[in-house]
Amino acid sequence: MALECCSCNEKGGFLKDALFQKIIGKDYCKDCAAKFVKTALEKIVITTTNNVDGYKVKRYIDIESVEIVVGTGIFSEIGGDISDFFGARSGAFEQKLQKGKKTALNLLRYRAFEKGGNAVIAIDLDYTEFSGNRIGLIANGTVVELEAQD
Ligand SMILES: [Zn+2]
Repeated sequence: MALECCSCNEKGGFLKDALFQKIIGKDYCKDCAAKFVKTALEKIVITTTNNVDGYKVKRYIDIESVEIVVGTGIFSEIGGDISDFFGARSGAFEQKLQKGKKTALNLLRYRAFEKGGNAVIAIDLDYTEFSGNRIGLIANGTVVELEAQD
C-alpha cells in the first residue's frame, strides 16, 4: 500500500515507501520528516534548572538518559612534540567533547519530542572514563510538559 506524505502530499510507492517515516502516527516523506523533526526539536526547552521562568510543569513524563562515547585519540597520536601534544591535541579533544555534549542534548530533545514533552528540565551531564582512551558522556534529564503560567 503506497504511503502519502501528510505535509506535502507526495505519494510513496513500492520503493519510496521505505523512505517514509511515521512520526506520532502520521506519515512523512523523507524531506518533510527531517524538516518537521528539526522544527519540533528547536522548540524543546532544555535546562539544568528545575523550573523555567514563566512556566509551570503540567505533567512529569519520564526520566531520560543518553550516553555518548567520545574517543580521545590522544595516545594514538603521541609522537609529535610535547607542546603540540598538550596544546593542539587537547584543543581537538575539547572540540570532540563539545560536539559530544551537543549530540547528547539533541538526543534528549528528541526523546522529549517522542514522548510528547516540550521540555527537559534538571539536566545533569556526567563524564566517565573508559579504557581505550574513550570518554563516556551521560546526560540525564526529566521530560516534562510545561505550560505558560497565567
Ligand atoms: Zn512531504
